[in-house]
Amino acid sequence: MTISPSYRGRFAPSPTGPLHFGSLVAAMGSYLQAKRQNGEWLLRIDDIDPPREQKGVVDNILKTLDGFGFEWNGEVLYQSNRRERYHEVVHHLLEQKLAYPCSCSRKSILEKTGQTKGETVYPGFCRNGPLENLSEYSIRLRCNHELIQFDDAILGPQSFDLEKMNGDFVLQRRDGYFSYHLASGIDDAEQGITEVVRGADLLNCSPGQIHVQQTLGLSPPLYCHLPIVLSESGQKLSKQSHAKPIDSKESVDLLYKSLKFLGQMPPIELMQSNNKEIWNWAINHWQLDLVSK
Ligand SMILES: [Zn+2]
Repeated sequence: MTISPSYRGRFAPSPTGPLHFGSLVAAMGSYLQAKRQNGEWLLRIDDIDPPREQKGVVDNILKTLDGFGFEWNGEVLYQSNRRERYHEVVHHLLEQKLAYPCSCSRKSILEKTGQTKGETVYPGFCRNGPLENLSEYSIRLRCNHELIQFDDAILGPQSFDLEKMNGDFVLQRRDGYFSYHLASGIDDAEQGITEVVRGADLLNCSPGQIHVQQTLGLSPPLYCHLPIVLSESGQKLSKQSHAKPIDSKESVDLLYKSLKFLGQMPPIELMQSNNKEIWNWAINHWQLDLVSK
């Protein structure tokens, strides 16, 4: 067993709905990567988008994780308490001319570029000053054609051209809320996370977060993107698609299923055991190599 006491992982759910089986798989993957290496596992609540959040969900998430036997290190970090830090960073980036105010709405970008809905690329209309004189602007981070490259622990070498992928992306929205790229990019680096383990649905967020970190002179963590759980109809399980919430009354069954989903081979007897025994087995037998791409 490799001992690397400096390993630090995290699970960072957004409180937009209760945890579902896909969340359990992501939590389990990051937990086992950390515990197998005698590392720390932090819990962070990514509550930076209040309009999309549901009341009472944070409590529900904490209780559910506890009910499934997850043990996190230290205090839970709430991104809603980090706004001052994000402000400071945005201010610094504006001063350094690494970021700039943008007056474009999503609609006007679509109209001007002839792109259709979905992933839009912003071609930097406001790079030399906002096109329109408004009272509120979004703030965008400059990017360039330099490739963002990293070696994903499961998916292997990755290479992204941010300019082609998103163009200069939003750090702070016009309504004042901060973007996921900004908040998570800063927090992962400043919390000293050594490896981010999460679902492959977030693979496309990694280059933006790495770009935020590199622009700020922070060192990016390693990345590991787990396979995504699909519903019977072949769609990604998500809070938005109203995936069934997980219930800690079924923890043994769901932990077992989650291990199987991650390619591990838990002995069948574990299905008759308890959380503690499952976790003991899982931590001792966790093999990232068995996880499918
Ligand atoms: Zn603009």
